[in-house]
Amino acid sequence: MRVLVTGGAGYIGTHTLIELIAAGHEPYVVDNFDNAVPEALNRVSELVQRPIPFTDCDVRDRKALTEVCETFRPEAVIHFAGLKAVGESEERPRDYYDVNVAGTLTLLAAMEAVGCRRIVFSSSATVYGVPEYLPYDEAHPTVPLSVYAKTKHMAEGILTDWQRANPEGAVMLLRYFNPVGAHVSSRIGEDPQGIPNNLMPFISQVAVGRRDKLMVFGDDYDTADGTGVRDYIHVTDLARAHVKAIEFAEHTAGAEVFNIGTGQGYSVLDMIRAFEKAADRPIPYEVTDRRPGDVAAMEADASRAAKHLGWRAELGLDAMCESVWGWQSANPQGYEEGR
Ligand code: NAD
Ligand code: UDP
Repeated sequence: MRVLVTGGAGYIGTHTLIELIAAGHEPYVVDNFDNAVPEALNRVSELVQRPIPFTDCDVRDRKALTEVCETFRPEAVIHFAGLKAVGESEERPRDYYDVNVAGTLTLLAAMEAVGCRRIVFSSSATVYGVPEYLPYDEAHPTVPLSVYAKTKHMAEGILTDWQRANPEGAVMLLRYFNPVGAHVSSRIGEDPQGIPNNLMPFISQVAVGRRDKLMVFGDDYDTADGTGVRDYIHVTDLARAHVKAIEFAEHTAGAEVFNIGTGQGYSVLDMIRAFEKAADRPIPYEVTDRRPGDVAAMEADASRAAKHLGWRAELGLDAMCESVWGWQSANPQGYEEGR
């Protein structure tokens, strides 16, 4: 299929391009490089040994997006483009609603202009809010707490209503748990700007010597070792879930929600130990206060994706840590050439 990939130069987008091409699809990227560099697409291009066509374009730019759609004629869209930092979303709510919500509406207008009715959307497990039970299934109530989570919840609602008004259309809402890991080649990976907010990039920057130590946000949670538990999912598994979702969308109509996780939770201390093994070096850490807004544990029931998409996570914790270490040690400053 011809697949328009918004935000395709980003962390999850680049990994998905590789899996799309491996599965015989033809991607076209739009990205405004707000949180990415063209070098990331150059590296994908090296890995797949073919050019990756792209347009430098904002998803809020209806005219430019419509032009891309009119030229490329996508049969499906994967919509990654968005702002994703939970903390920052509280400080810049207008930007987050503008990019994540208004940007999604603009994209739908461009899709309508060319009769494209299939979309896979990057949602997030944060839409669930505080767990009433675990693992979360897709029927768990959604009570988004942060501005970021609210933007994802709103976009899910917009896409669901749009599908109802376009009953031949297919909307796949993928609620990601905690994406980590890097491509096995060590050529592409996560490249956060500034001080990383997330655990895995922070640990890997400590391992490579860019930071002194990890601060562990609380060890008094009601979990086995007291530290926060999350469902980490390898980015390559996540990328493959997108391929399954567009292929499912080709033969179905409806709006569907899928959790994308492994179903296996790991604590912060588990992650430190696994990374120490992968990198063969100690990760200094210090326990500090809980981070406001954090929940004790999050785990996915991903059985719906297994049943309908035929997708299951295949890569475990060791593969996650080894691939992050491979990427970080080969690229200590990330995509420095492109910045
Ligand atoms: P990322 O920042 O690496 O990728 C997002 C891409 O969108 C970047 O390449 C960025 O330049 C681009 N972009 C941002 N604003 C844009 C705009 N206005 N117009 C065009 N392009 C724009 O993030 P990622 O980790 O690859 O996440 C991809 C999607 O998945 C995001 O929507 C994010 O909210 C969602 N998500 C991510 C995680 C995670 O932990 N990484 C978890 C759940 C959901
Ligand atoms: N965490 C931590 N130190 C850090 C970053 C994160 O202890 O520097 C913990 C955090 O409290 C949570 C887990 O690691 O329990 C995963 O956090 P992350 O920000 O990666 O993901 P999210 O909070 O979005 O699930």
